[in-house]
Amino acid sequence: MASSVRHPTGKPHRAAPHASGPRLLYGPPLAPRKGPSHMCTDHPKPGLAPSRRQTLLGGLATTAVAATALATAPATSAAPRSKKRDMDFALVPLGIQGGPPPHPNQAGISTALVVNGDVYLIDCGRASLSQFVNAGLPVPRLRSIFLTHLHADHCIDFATYTQLAAQFPTQYTYKNPIHAYGPGTAGKPTGKLKDGDQWANAGQATPGTREMLELLNNAFSGSANFFLKEHFIGDPAKMIIAHDIEIPAELNASADNTAPSAQPFEVMADENVRVTATLVPHGAVYPALAYRFDTEHGSVVFSGDTAPSDNLIRLARNCDILVHEAVELEASASRMGWNETTMKHMRDVHTDVNEIGRIAKEANAGHIVLSHLVPDTLSHQEWQAALRKSVRRASYTGRTTVAQELRDVPL
Ligand SMILES: [Zn+2]
Repeated sequence: MASSVRHPTGKPHRAAPHASGPRLLYGPPLAPRKGPSHMCTDHPKPGLAPSRRQTLLGGLATTAVAATALATAPATSAAPRSKKRDMDFALVPLGIQGGPPPHPNQAGISTALVVNGDVYLIDCGRASLSQFVNAGLPVPRLRSIFLTHLHADHCIDFATYTQLAAQFPTQYTYKNPIHAYGPGTAGKPTGKLKDGDQWANAGQATPGTREMLELLNNAFSGSANFFLKEHFIGDPAKMIIAHDIEIPAELNASADNTAPSAQPFEVMADENVRVTATLVPHGAVYPALAYRFDTEHGSVVFSGDTAPSDNLIRLARNCDILVHEAVELEASASRMGWNETTMKHMRDVHTDVNEIGRIAKEANAGHIVLSHLVPDTLSHQEWQAALRKSVRRASYTGRTTVAQELRDVPL
């Protein structure tokens, strides 16, 4: 039995270069221009990203589809994006908010990793696709989506990448199938529920990544069939190929033993990245995965949602950048009115920011980056102060960053 999922073809999925510039949905071809629109060729060049205002105006003038997507985009003016991006390697936080509830002007958790012009997306929380476009990233160069776990706040935009970002004749869509990698099913749910509660959708209680995509595509089959009837675009369901990541059997992991001590295992490899993963403890969630991307430019690890984890430290050993989730408990208890039940939940399933310095030091990470921040009411300065305190206490001497939306993180 195979212990990992590999890229099925081993070949790149590059968009064809535009002979006369990308076409608008309801207008003439756009002239090729500097900046992000060049990135959908086989030879991307670094360029100036458009301002947020330019992006919004351009997007609204371009297509009804783009306008629909942008209408849901949060305002992110507090964090000006990087002016110039090296498309050989870039780490772009699209959303940094932790947890499901919406918050004004914040997008859900999602991060883009650019390697040699191709874009790898790690989680796609609320407004991820809109933020992808706002970041000036080239949608035609979206290569793969990696889901750390199937809590809705990490994958709610899976449907938008499927239904809104594929095939339409604009520069903001991909034209070749992309791949999605994520957890498989947790199996039949076990455990005791509160009195009066019942398992949701009991017959199919924990769909994995493949099944989730199938269910989403089925839910939107009416939309697909209306377009198919008009010979407008093909079936979007054919534009994402989903892979359930197989957990090596020798780990003896299960929904009741979610993150046993283990060595990392390989998920996939292509000409840009080699991706390995490990199981991390995240409450009842199974599987919950952390990913490591090794590239010719450097290595980046994404913790996903996790309590402090030796598996994660092992995966992150000597990495260049560790992107780690965090919860702030000291100030939040009173500010958020968290009772002891909520505090226990936060402690059990997430990582106290006070632990981050120790984790970064033990992993010997070159750069620790906080993202997926809970609660969402702390200011950037407050998070910076909390991180500073944590790394000082652990005598961690590497670089530190609190992620901000659309602001690239340097290697
Ligand atoms: Zn989660």
